[in-house]
Amino acid sequence: MEVSNRVRKGLWLVWFLVFPVSMWLLYSYTNPIIAGYELDIVSFLLITGIISILPIVVNNIPIMFTEGVSLTIFLFFGLFIDIIITQVAIILLLIRVKISVKEWYRIPLNSLLFLTMSVTSAAVYYLLGGTHGAIDMSSPSFLIPIVGYQFTRFFMNHVLLRLIKLILDQNKEKQPLITKDVIWEGATMLVHFPVGLVLYMLYVEVGLIALFYVGIPLVSLAFILRLYYSSQRINDYLQQATEIGYQLAGRLKVEEVLDVFIEKICKMLPVEYAYILDVVDEKELNVIRYFSKVDSPSRNFSPLKKDEGIAGRVWSTQKATIFRTRKEFRDITKGYLPESVESAICVPVIRNKQVVGVFALASTKKHCYENYQLMIVEILSSYLAVAIENARLHEETKTKSEICSLTRVYNYRYFEQVLEAEFLKLENKSHGPLSLILLDIDHFKTINDNFGHQGGNEILRDLAHRLQNLIGSQGTVARYGGEEFVILLPNTDKRTCYELAETIRQMISNRPFTIQDDLQDRLPQQKMVRITASIGFATAPNDAETPLELVRYADRAMYIGAKQAGRNRVAEYVHG
Ligand code: GH3
Ligand code: MG
Ligand code: MG
Repeated sequence: MEVSNRVRKGLWLVWFLVFPVSMWLLYSYTNPIIAGYELDIVSFLLITGIISILPIVVNNIPIMFTEGVSLTIFLFFGLFIDIIITQVAIILLLIRVKISVKEWYRIPLNSLLFLTMSVTSAAVYYLLGGTHGAIDMSSPSFLIPIVGYQFTRFFMNHVLLRLIKLILDQNKEKQPLITKDVIWEGATMLVHFPVGLVLYMLYVEVGLIALFYVGIPLVSLAFILRLYYSSQRINDYLQQATEIGYQLAGRLKVEEVLDVFIEKICKMLPVEYAYILDVVDEKELNVIRYFSKVDSPSRNFSPLKKDEGIAGRVWSTQKATIFRTRKEFRDITKGYLPESVESAICVPVIRNKQVVGVFALASTKKHCYENYQLMIVEILSSYLAVAIENARLHEETKTKSEICSLTRVYNYRYFEQVLEAEFLKLENKSHGPLSLILLDIDHFKTINDNFGHQGGNEILRDLAHRLQNLIGSQGTVARYGGEEFVILLPNTDKRTCYELAETIRQMISNRPFTIQDDLQDRLPQQKMVRITASIGFATAPNDAETPLELVRYADRAMYIGAKQAGRNRVAEYVHG
């Protein structure tokens, strides 16, 4: 719920105007029972305080175990003491759930809410004949005002909460009359009410010791429930982490792994900023992913050395670290974290006992992260390490299976896939003509004989490099076989293809290739070798209807039109 500054100030103003006066009036007119009970009141205050700093939060609603004790306090000491103790409980609870400065308005708001609630329900209590101190419990009718009191409280609580929502909430959504919260509160009242009543009865009978009889089981119950819910939450997180692990494992590209990781973790935990850093050459840390809920997604970060900044520390210590307040990292940070950040988690990404990266996330809230969340992030970062390694291997294998290791251009297997795909585009009529150039080096056997196989390899490598540079993104260059190369040129008509082929021919014949001559028995020396090539080409859909035809016809043009016609020339496919 976004609340404007004006409303916040207004709430404090109303509180200062209303609260002290009300308390003074209550003190003067309700005859609170204090004298002789100072120790008892302090004990009740203590127990209320203890219970309220152990709130159990379910679906973001803190359960107030203090309600039961509050009933006892009201019944015995009266409205004034009850309100005072309740106020203390509210403030403790709000501090415990770590409200931010922006939410301080909730203090006067809740204070006024409870004041109104307590006063109205007390009014009902008095109207029904209720009194304080040791009430006569000889006939069951003593319960009538108490039940009236409790129901009014319950009812008022919801009416007031609904009113506040209506007034403060800008985007007024319609809500059903009976929400989950109402049912939940009703259920917890079924516990508070008898506990409060029993505590009261016992207190009247045996005095302060009653607090132990009832208070201790109550506090233990709160503890157990708290443990139960936190283990439930951890369970829930672990399940989510496993799910993320599966999703990471399914990604085959490093970029995708990083994307999924950041996206999922930011959904799972309270995160305003997240950073993935990569250890580069064992020397420095580089940010390879940055996420921010608030500012622009691109920011420049200078690399970090070992021990530099939070991430550099985590790199050298290999220890996952949690920073609960700004004070804890103020002196180490290198300015990656914005001023507003109050808490952070930073974990090493470890593979084979080596830090290969660092992952950090941050929030503008103090004490935002708990130890179990650190543990979850550690688990996730180990998933990340494995997933990145897998994706990297996969990418590497894929590249290897597509690239000719000698010439570093695509191999023919990959080329065939591109050819198929380009032919499909042709059929869709969305693309212009598709040309294919086939090139065969002339008398390459002689080159091998004269300069050795290594020398021949050098020429192949250099030629591939020249072709790749010349064609660039215009088309796809691949090694067809031995000393033959193919070039696929989408959106290229016969004329353009011929000109390009001619450029290639000249580029080969005009510029000699440099090789290390190591055949002779002397020291290796550099040699300039001139070569030529015969080139044929065909264009679809004019010349060929299938990928296979296109290759075959380009090959035929090369063989008949260029090789047989005397080599070192370009020939186009001619029908027939
Ligand atoms: P033509 O002008 O008729 O094409 O003559 P050519 O000698 O180039 O033709 P041929 O097909 O008879 O010989 C091709 C030679 O290319 C034979 C082979 O030793 C050589 N070759 C094939 N692959 C490689 C390779 O990877 N490295 C080296 N160095 N030579 C290769
Ligand atoms: Mg050949
Ligand atoms: Mg040849």
